[in-house]
Amino acid sequence: MAIRDIRIIGDPVLRTPCDPIGPIDDSVRSLVADLVETVDQEGRAGLAANQIGVNLRAFSYNIEDEVGYVLNPRIVELSEEDQDGDEGCLSVPGLWFPCRRAWYARVVGINLDGDEVMVEGTQLMARCLQHEVDHLDGKLYLDRLDRAVRKKAMQAVRDL
Ligand code: ZN
Repeated sequence: MAIRDIRIIGDPVLRTPCDPIGPIDDSVRSLVADLVETVDQEGRAGLAANQIGVNLRAFSYNIEDEVGYVLNPRIVELSEEDQDGDEGCLSVPGLWFPCRRAWYARVVGINLDGDEVMVEGTQLMARCLQHEVDHLDGKLYLDRLDRAVRKKAMQAVRDL
């Protein structure tokens, strides 16, 4: 297990959709250990595998003292009701911008035993689930900002 370095915006791995995880072997177990250890730090809420340079569909989360992970996650439900609030990303350090998300989200995937798991939540958890699945599709939250906010954000990113 290791705390891994976080890839920063501009790294092409963040723009590359991740591949599904196939057979669960030692490399997948080691990836999960690193994802969990790396997200389990003050101020960290979620981490996608491509943020540590691994192009596989896995993420970890650290929300309200609950740390976990999902392999091959997919969003199966989003509420029609939205939430507003600032969002940030470990790969876009030090910046926060208002980003509209569904208020509730439910993700299903598998664990290291290959069993189906479900993670759901509202507010921060829902925001995290949507943010991390976006990462695995090669997207960043900046893509989802309103046009005026996005312009401001892109300028701030250039100044990073
Ligand atoms: Zn992020």
